[in-house]
Amino acid sequence: MSPLILDGTKIAQEIRTEVAAEAKAMAAAGVHPGLAVVLVGHNPASEIYVRGKVKACEEVGIYSEKLTPPKSANTSELLDIIEDLNRRDDIDGILVQLPLPAHVDSKKVLLAVDPAKDVDGFHPMNVGFLSTQRPGLVPCTPAGVMEILRRSNIPVAGQDAVVVGRSDIVGKPAVMLLTNANATVTICHSKTRDLPGVCRRADILVAAIGRAGMITKDFVKPGATVIDVGMNSVTDAAEFQRFFGGNAKREETFRKKGSTLIGDVHPEVADVAGALTPVPGGVGPLTIAMLMFNTVKAAKMRRGAGVRELSRI
Ligand code: NAP
Repeated sequence: MSPLILDGTKIAQEIRTEVAAEAKAMAAAGVHPGLAVVLVGHNPASEIYVRGKVKACEEVGIYSEKLTPPKSANTSELLDIIEDLNRRDDIDGILVQLPLPAHVDSKKVLLAVDPAKDVDGFHPMNVGFLSTQRPGLVPCTPAGVMEILRRSNIPVAGQDAVVVGRSDIVGKPAVMLLTNANATVTICHSKTRDLPGVCRRADILVAAIGRAGMITKDFVKPGATVIDVGMNSVTDAAEFQRFFGGNAKREETFRKKGSTLIGDVHPEVADVAGALTPVPGGVGPLTIAMLMFNTVKAAKMRRGAGVRELSRI
């Protein structure tokens, strides 16, 4: 039987619509949520991501400001920029687009962001709030994973969840969110023994690895929900054939663009999974939607208004 395809594009649009309504209501009360994005130098991938974030702000009615210090900017200059944004009352969210140039102390810069404006949820204070189940700002991608599960009515409490990947950005916060939602969670990484065997125990399997198609059928319990966070670009024709040979739609895209996007989950997993996020169109669109959500949430929390939860994250 074909799996239920968890449509991230549709869910992200729902969230954006809710956030837009919230931003409109706040504007009527004289509050205009604002997001500042700091983009250092000229990294083409980062420029595309930032463009998407600024466009999303426009669409949902959030004020946005892009700061573009040159690649030569040093740690101290970036700290000055962050300090200025921390002080400004019209800015509710600060996002430092990663990666920063190698000569910059990235951790120091991220640590300087006011935790109340840390819409990426990376500050240790927000990490602590998440682990102690206090209100705070939650990293966007794993928060999006939870929204996909919740809005697709996939039960989490009491389920066995396995997260492959232990990054601070995705894996670890996903583990914390699933734990807070009462799943029984196992975290895996590159040193895990018998990874397929551990993954096969999962009712909910989250793959956040960064390796094209690594999760094959033998990692998946029949009927499991599989959430594919991975975003990997395939440019090699032989590799493309191995994953997508016979898929006419993909072949056309590959021919036109010379590349295609694949997650960490192999397409053959569709034969066994009960529900599955596609790539593209699964977790990806949720990341920007949750950034919009976090900016509005930060605007409310900073003003001391009781956070009327848009969702139960
Ligand atoms: P990361 O920091 O590179 O972490 C990768 C994790 O995978 C590490 O914990 C690593 O283990 C583990 N891993 C690597 N090879 C493994 C193997 N063979 N077996 C088991 N575990 C293995 O990556 P990330 O930032 O979390 O991102 C993960 C993926 O998600 C990437 O494809 C990224 O592009 C994608 N992503 C997507 C979004 C989105 O919006 N959809 C957002 C963020 C990231 P060790 O810790 O032992 O090295």
